[in-house]
Amino acid sequence: MNKKIFIFANDSEISKRTERQLKQKLDNSGFELLTTYSEEADLLVCIGGDGTFLEAMHKFSFPPMPIIGINTGHLGFFQEIMSSLLDDFIFNYTQGRYSLQPLSTVKVKVVTEEGEAEHVGINEVLIKGNSTYSIHLNISIGGSFIERFSGDGLLIATPAGSTAYNYSLGGSIVDPRLKLLQVTPIAPMNTTAYRSFTSSILLPSELSLGVVPDMDDAVNRLCIVYDGTTAEYENIKELEFSFSDIQINLMRFENYDFWTKVKSKFL
Ligand code: NAP
Repeated sequence: MNKKIFIFANDSEISKRTERQLKQKLDNSGFELLTTYSEEADLLVCIGGDGTFLEAMHKFSFPPMPIIGINTGHLGFFQEIMSSLLDDFIFNYTQGRYSLQPLSTVKVKVVTEEGEAEHVGINEVLIKGNSTYSIHLNISIGGSFIERFSGDGLLIATPAGSTAYNYSLGGSIVDPRLKLLQVTPIAPMNTTAYRSFTSSILLPSELSLGVVPDMDDAVNRLCIVYDGTTAEYENIKELEFSFSDIQINLMRFENYDFWTKVKSKFL
């Protein structure tokens, strides 16, 4: 039976050109091209950068099938191949010369006076104020109270997201084979008036981070940002950040190595 492939591309000229070329080549190689996204697809191809990849993962609710990213001139940390190597990609895919890299996700449960909501991030989920005021968060780990954190906010990153916003905040780069969450402070205040942790905390996958924000007249709305998308809430009673069961699988070819990629993109 022919393999079914769905292609998602951003609107840039190079991505659209790459999409046309890839469709032609896949068609010539006997693959079935789906015109709309379906969970029946055997492979999802994302053409663009990491932003396009993240957009596709949320738009299609974390697809269950293998996903391959084609980079069209961005940083492309999730993306596996360059747009000039389409023939190599088709050859390797046809020959089964690839492995799947499972990526874990992080979730947050938001409890407000009005009800509950949940958000999932592939890179991260963070909490911050909706103004320039500092925010105050009573945090607990595994149910034990740790401290009243003061600053701009907290970012909870997955290993895959450790190279994104987390890294810019001074967090550590984590190999995605490790099952952990990284809690990184955003502009923590550490003075005689306020005591806040200033470096990242690593949590095993079975522990969750509880947060009870201080809400007052100055800070009565807070933002939850998941992979760059913002949801604003008022009257938050509590938040719980934890490992999510949702996982995605990236297709990687024989020469993929996480640390080689880190070196080529960052160091
Ligand atoms: P964006 O603000 O337009 O782009 C953020 C940059 O982060 C892009 O260069 C993107 O790569 C790169 N990126 C995304 N995920 C990455 C990862 N896992 N490892 C390394 N780099 C990564 O926003 P966007 O493209 O929609 O992406 C959303 C992400 O941006 C968020 O999840 C957050 O992590 C990140 N972000 C970073 C900062 C910061 O570093 N100060 C601030 C806000 C948001 P491409 O060029 O390939 O798209």
